[in-house]
Amino acid sequence: MNPFAQHQHVLRTSASGLPLEWLDYQQAAHLYHLGKVLYPCGSPLFRLHGGISAITGRQSVLIIHSIIATMGEVSEHLTAGYVPLLSNRTLFKRDGHLCLYCGERFLSARLSRDHVRPISRGGTNTWNNVVTACRRCNNRKAGHLPEEAGMQLLAIPFTPNHAEYVYLQGRRILADQMAFLRAHFPRSSPFHARLSADEGFPPPRQAPLATRAADC
Ligand SMILES: [Zn+2]
Repeated sequence: MNPFAQHQHVLRTSASGLPLEWLDYQQAAHLYHLGKVLYPCGSPLFRLHGGISAITGRQSVLIIHSIIATMGEVSEHLTAGYVPLLSNRTLFKRDGHLCLYCGERFLSARLSRDHVRPISRGGTNTWNNVVTACRRCNNRKAGHLPEEAGMQLLAIPFTPNHAEYVYLQGRRILADQMAFLRAHFPRSSPFHARLSADEGFPPPRQAPLATRAADC
């Protein structure tokens, strides 16, 4: 198997085609074995070889595509009021790894989570009140509101919808997966312009077709 391919993830959707989560090839194969895959979309991603039939003498082959629609629970993902879990990794990606005060781009290790209205002033630890900030800007702002510290936000923080959140969680997103996710972004999503400009985002990868023996 291509050493990079085994880290490629499959995008799982609901039966109606709403993006839900990322699966590795073993989790995707498991859903096939359980009969829970309704139909594949996107490009062929993995070719898994199974056992040899005693009747036909042929080896079974399972092709796993980059996007699979599945039956089963949608859980709380799409219910009204759902808010994605806030983490620094997804927050930094939401903001393009830019400090939203000085506009410089940093590696994650040099970034921090800034509460626009500080917790000590009644601010909340929620998507709409947090931005990515470099440590220097965060220290300078300290327990102040931006205007009190003479600092200006370069973008308005927002809560991603579930498709945007799945995008933020993705690590190696293929071109067809990205197009699928983008179709579910809100029209007003700042990711549209950012992805179109390809600024700060690596170009989507083309799907490698990987082959290995099935081990599930
Ligand atoms: Zn900064």
